[in-house]
Amino acid sequence: MGIIERIAEVHDDLTNWRRDIHAHPELGFEEHRTSDLIAQKLAEFGCEVFRGIGRTGIVGRLRAGASPRSIGLRADMDALPIQEATNLPHRSRHDGQMHACGHDGHTTMLLGAARYLAETRNFDGMVHLIFQPAEEGLGGGEAMVKDGLFERFPCDAVFGMHNRPGLAVGKFQIRTGPMMAGGAYFDIAVTGRGAHGARPEAGIDPVIVASHITTALQTVVSRNVRPLDTAVLSVTQIHAGDAYNVIPEQAFIRGTARAFVSETLSLIEQNMRRIASGVASGFGAAAQLDFRIIFPPLVNDATEAEFIADTAAGLVGEDNINRNGNLVMASEDFSFMLNRRPGAYIQIGNGDVEGGCEVHNPGYDFNDAALPLGASLFARLAERKLSLG
Ligand SMILES: [Zn+2]
Ligand SMILES: [Zn+2]
Repeated sequence: MGIIERIAEVHDDLTNWRRDIHAHPELGFEEHRTSDLIAQKLAEFGCEVFRGIGRTGIVGRLRAGASPRSIGLRADMDALPIQEATNLPHRSRHDGQMHACGHDGHTTMLLGAARYLAETRNFDGMVHLIFQPAEEGLGGGEAMVKDGLFERFPCDAVFGMHNRPGLAVGKFQIRTGPMMAGGAYFDIAVTGRGAHGARPEAGIDPVIVASHITTALQTVVSRNVRPLDTAVLSVTQIHAGDAYNVIPEQAFIRGTARAFVSETLSLIEQNMRRIASGVASGFGAAAQLDFRIIFPPLVNDATEAEFIADTAAGLVGEDNINRNGNLVMASEDFSFMLNRRPGAYIQIGNGDVEGGCEVHNPGYDFNDAALPLGASLFARLAERKLSLG
């Protein structure tokens, strides 16, 4: 019996687990019930369980044979602060929280792979099942890496997967090299000198300075970034002042920058710093830039991208694999793991039904039909990477 058929026999179990997790969503670093459930299932299957890696993160370990080879398979566990707008029987029981990105499905697919691998042990080496917290902008991937994930649980390669609405169930999509943008948030504090609104000659107006800085920042992408490199720099907030008749002492500019290579993000930061302080000093004011990379760009290793695409093709056929998927301007914090280990990240079809919901939409639901496919792909990656002689 093939792996998909074998895993499909437990499709009902997978669906029940997924719907249970969906009904009880938890936000980043608060995945207590979810991680209890995962730890209990991993232990039931016969995995060694390690908890508290990156706060609520979990690693399950499975060994077979004596080979020192190892692989990491990663899923995310957290939900979003969104009020669910479905009437599904398994809709969120937690007000204002929802699995609107399908991490309930990703977690279930990795649990399905864990159960299969524990039962069959058709590999030689070590499988690390990585359940990461707080993917949605709170740095869960980075927290696990900083907590010694790869020192404690060596992985020759690491693989992740995300559902994609609009792509039919049974199809996969990937690209080699940069696939998802890196993102930074920035704050610029402009300091002038406060004065009476009727006596501007007595002050240095930070509102004017912030306006000039905001305008000048528009030249970073258009004049400093190479036209063939993709980048965006958006000022999304400007705050200053509390009164009609007071020139404030300070003004604050905030926003986000995105790019597909880390060098472009550094180049944006350097040019922002030059413009902010140069423009401010031209007016006799000062500007301080705080530029924080929230997600590095997600970059797929060429060899491992081919490996995961070949593995998926072995399950669903080459016709169902798009190896030249689109660049995605959104970010993904699996990139923290891919910065440390070779690996790849693939998109799995969540269905292309008319009116189907995008992720982060209050009407979204993970498509249970994809569960055996994702679980099979995770399991086959382990069997192929750690193949028996
Ligand atoms: Zn998301
Ligand atoms: Zn997601």
